[in-house]
Amino acid sequence: MDCLFCKIINGEIPSKKVYEDDSVYAFYDIAPMAPVHVLIVPKTHIASVNEVTAENSAVISHIYEVAAKLAKELGIADEGYRVVTNCGANAGQTVFHLHFHLLGGTKLKVEMC
Ligand code: AMP
Ligand code: ZN
Repeated sequence: MDCLFCKIINGEIPSKKVYEDDSVYAFYDIAPMAPVHVLIVPKTHIASVNEVTAENSAVISHIYEVAAKLAKELGIADEGYRVVTNCGANAGQTVFHLHFHLLGGTKLKVEMC
């Protein structure tokens, strides 16, 4: 499958890894929008939130556990941060492998859209 994040997960394309376990991979965004900008992705290819089902949704709660852990380790937990996923064209999704942006380290814009 010609998927950028699958290639990052399997090491075909380099990334700055932050965390990895059996089901999740996390790495620094190549074009950070905040002082801390990490992408947390399931190792299984799920294209977007549109593809989340009862069969594959366990990894989503695990991703939030990882987000909480990384936020603490990266020093942004106390002051606050945002975890966001874009789904589809209207949200500006550019990579169609489900990913959660972990953004922090500064006061983020209040506007969500
Ligand atoms: P989205 O627009 O929500 O689909 O987010 C895709 C994100 O992937 C963007 O923030 C990009 O900067 C990021 N990105 C694209 N290519 C790479 C890469 N090779 N390594 C790390 N992040 C990337
Ligand atoms: Zn993929």
